Amino acid sequence: MKFYTVKFGYDISRNSNKVAISSREHIINRDRLLEVENYDQTFELVKYAVSAVFDMRRAGLSLILQGMPSGLGAYHILGSNVIVLNRFVLEIIKNTGRSIEEYNSYLFTVLAHEYLHSFGILEEYTVRKMILDLCKNFFGEDHPTNLLAKDPVSLFPQLRHKFSDKFENRFEIVKEFDKSNQYYIQ
Ligand SMILES: [Zn+2]
Repeated sequence: MKFYTVKFGYDISRNSNKVAISSREHIINRDRLLEVENYDQTFELVKYAVSAVFDMRRAGLSLILQGMPSGLGAYHILGSNVIVLNRFVLEIIKNTGRSIEEYNSYLFTVLAHEYLHSFGILEEYTVRKMILDLCKNFFGEDHPTNLLAKDPVSLFPQLRHKFSDKFENRFEIVKEFDKSNQYYIQ
């Protein structure tokens, strides 16, 4: 079994422009991210964004929450349809009093990262570069997702402190996740 992970502490900055999404659409997309209320709605927006920017789509993923060691945001088990998010990280971010936009931006970038892995894109560098392109093109450059795409803990310095060194045995399966095969109609 091989794990592909979001690891904290990297910082890469690259520029590119794949598609032209207008600044008016950036505002609409930012508003959509503000309005998502759960994992499923956030993931639907991720799927829409990846479809709009990279013309890639797939369905049928499952989401699991699990407490994991510090420094690990999420993982995808290669060849499976499972994305696992670090529950501890989500709780810390929720409890730090950051804005809804910042919390939703974290969720968006971490789900998008694992979603791209689920297409069989294995190289971390490639996925990180795609996430930078995705956030820049979909939301515009001056949006919190851009910072998180470069460094997932940039907005949440608390995550640099060690808060756990083990994987929990408890897995919480998120119900009502990725049940629809529908995509937003553009
Ligand atoms: Zn990864």
